[in-house]
Amino acid sequence: MSNEAVESIQAKAQVDFECLEDACKGIVKFNLVDVAKKSFNVSCPSCRKLYDFNNDLREKLNKLLRLIMAVREAESILGDCNVSVNVPGGEVKIPYALLLTRLNTMITLNVGGKKVDFHLWVEPSSPDTFR
Ligand SMILES: [Zn+2]
Repeated sequence: MSNEAVESIQAKAQVDFECLEDACKGIVKFNLVDVAKKSFNVSCPSCRKLYDFNNDLREKLNKLLRLIMAVREAESILGDCNVSVNVPGGEVKIPYALLLTRLNTMITLNVGGKKVDFHLWVEPSSPDTFR
């Protein structure tokens, strides 16, 4: 991954999840790019619980990052891509760009035996890409 590519996505691939401490409703946030760093860990802003993801989890998050990078690279053609849904009476086309910008992406992963929903916040690199 080139430095330039990493930088272009850096500010835009934020992940958050709800703290796993039962009584805590804190939202833990981190940048997806940082997961690749050896020293990566993140703490809850509310209860200060420290999260140190294991290799398996980090590998999955890294795969997610590569998926986002691939989508980013294809951005110029996404305006021409549609997802079509069959409904009674015909077919509805949903622009792919709309799926990426208006719907929330979420990945559910296992953290210490618990299923955790990681919410992903990604923006297109240019506001002009998806009109
Ligand atoms: Zn917490």
